[in-house]
Amino acid sequence: MKNIKSKQILKFCLLGIIALMLLSINVKSMDWGNVLNQVSKAVKTGTKIKKAMDVANLTPLQEHYIGRAVAANILAKYKPYYNQKADRYLNILGQTLAQASDRPNTYMGYRFLILDSDEINSFATPGGFIFITKGMIRCCNSEDSLAAVLAHEIAHVQWKHGLRSIRTKRLVSVGAVLLGEVAVKSGSGDFKNVLKAFNGSVNDISNKLINSKYSRATEVVADQTAVTILTRVGYNPQGFIDLLKTMQEKFRHDRHGFYKTHPAPKSRIRVVKQCLRGYTIKEINNNNARNQRFKANLAGI
Ligand SMILES: [Zn+2]
Repeated sequence: MKNIKSKQILKFCLLGIIALMLLSINVKSMDWGNVLNQVSKAVKTGTKIKKAMDVANLTPLQEHYIGRAVAANILAKYKPYYNQKADRYLNILGQTLAQASDRPNTYMGYRFLILDSDEINSFATPGGFIFITKGMIRCCNSEDSLAAVLAHEIAHVQWKHGLRSIRTKRLVSVGAVLLGEVAVKSGSGDFKNVLKAFNGSVNDISNKLINSKYSRATEVVADQTAVTILTRVGYNPQGFIDLLKTMQEKFRHDRHGFYKTHPAPKSRIRVVKQCLRGYTIKEINNNNARNQRFKANLAGI
């Protein structure tokens, strides 16, 4: 009886630590790696997993923590590009598109960041951290094309594609850790397995985004969803096709980044054209204001 009571007290304390930890995090600090350390410390007394987890069961808050740790991995590989004007423009554009998606709100909202890399690439981590390289921005000839890149990444967040790349076995453990549903019994080696599963989950997603690729079906869904978002806002999806044609041309010389992690632009053009059958396409040259601000804000990239 006494043992059960002490277990309950310990579990209560553990939940309290995790709750305080979650409340104390300042997202704007961009100290994403610190979150992982804090979670690690908080679960040091945990041993046994009580309940199986599924992506659908992860709360937006839990998704946010996983996404931040993945974002930290991306920032360990790519440096941010510091340009206030470009950053502000990218975030206004990105937020506008996100609000037109079927998932306008994540736990701390969407954030968009330019990476100082010539590689043609973009990434979306769970919870809405979206990165685009300077190399990818250079593939965009208009705001409509840049909007297409961001809409594609927002689609990955909307459908939780990143979270779905976690191996099921690991998701069971990481879900239990983030829920605090870990039986409290110090001194067991099981804790190491739990922590290993959390780190493994973050690595599963990071590898998928940086080195591997989603299935072709997943990318088709992201492209279809991107077209929906673009047309809801009023962007011309022809900009999407223009972007893919430019990427196709550039991939003749540069076969890194997006070339490795996405289907060939040629097949993506077919998907986008299919989506556009029901839409009336306006002239792409009728949006001077958009293109003026696109050039003014991204000059020098
Ligand atoms: Zn994609």
